[in-house]
Amino acid sequence: MTTCPVCSRLVKPAKEARWQGHCTRDCYRKRPGLTRRQAANVAGYRTLVQRQSLPLEAKVAMSIRRIREWYAYWDGAVYVAFSGGKDSTVLLHLVRSIYPEVPAVFINTTMEYPEIRRFATTHENVVSVHPKKSFHRVVVEHGWPVISKEQAKYIFQYRNGSALMRRRRWEGYGPERSYRIANKWRFLVDAPFKISNYCCAVLKKAPSQIYDKRTGRKPMLGMLAEDSKLRKALYVMHGCSTFTGKKPKSTPLGFWTTEDVWAYIRSRRVPYCSLYDHGVKSTGCMLCLFGVHMESPNRIQLLKESHPKIWRWGMNELGLRAVMEYINLPCELKREP
Ligand code: SF4
Repeated sequence: MTTCPVCSRLVKPAKEARWQGHCTRDCYRKRPGLTRRQAANVAGYRTLVQRQSLPLEAKVAMSIRRIREWYAYWDGAVYVAFSGGKDSTVLLHLVRSIYPEVPAVFINTTMEYPEIRRFATTHENVVSVHPKKSFHRVVVEHGWPVISKEQAKYIFQYRNGSALMRRRRWEGYGPERSYRIANKWRFLVDAPFKISNYCCAVLKKAPSQIYDKRTGRKPMLGMLAEDSKLRKALYVMHGCSTFTGKKPKSTPLGFWTTEDVWAYIRSRRVPYCSLYDHGVKSTGCMLCLFGVHMESPNRIQLLKESHPKIWRWGMNELGLRAVMEYINLPCELKREP
């Protein structure tokens, strides 16, 4: 239960998810001069900022409340989506501190760092699920995941869509020209390789949906709103948990920051994957190119030092070098003469 920011009444979990913390539709309308959606966004952002500024122990208490609500709502038929990264490690630790029997599901895309795979499978009650296609097949059939999910999607739609879609992805919508290919990435529409946002859908979402269907369990994810614009927008829209809709899911750590995650790990002495001690910041798929342009040194450069065999396979067998060179990104660290 949380408090409605307009009328201060207590809000039940299902209503909270639907009305972003407000108790009813009417409470949206009590904000003068704003449409219902704008009012919801304002309230959502305000709630997120307020929650992000809480001290760690208050965040822990609130996350535990979210976990209890989720567990009770689905009569215990829940699981933790466990990637082996720091965020899902903290989530699993929190969940198991109250419900030790809750399973963790690890999606083995075969692109995880070996250290992450080993770390994830050392935990008890971890179910490993596998995608039907390999990363190699996804790249060949659907295209490379480059820049960001949105930009890869727009580029794919521009290349494969109707004339109307092409115009929309080039010019955008409305006065702000949103939902278009950013000017700096427009050269990618002529790239001599395929680009799409399908990779995650095939390698991660599909196997987890099969697991959800087979077991009837609902997921809890260790996602933070601060990780990306998309995640922030989703948190603002839905809050921590979405109880209704086609894909119910909960992100009990949504309002945490990376500093909170590390503070929790240090204060509770939670074991975490050794990769973090070797300078790796993102423990996702080794050859993923989402966000790689914002890193310096980037994960591909670091991969050459830490996992040269996989780096060579990517460069020589997968065509990674051509993709990196086309985007003008370095593949290896410069050696001092
Ligand atoms: S994180 Fe990147 S490489 Fe891994 S499944 Fe998603 S898009 Fe593909």
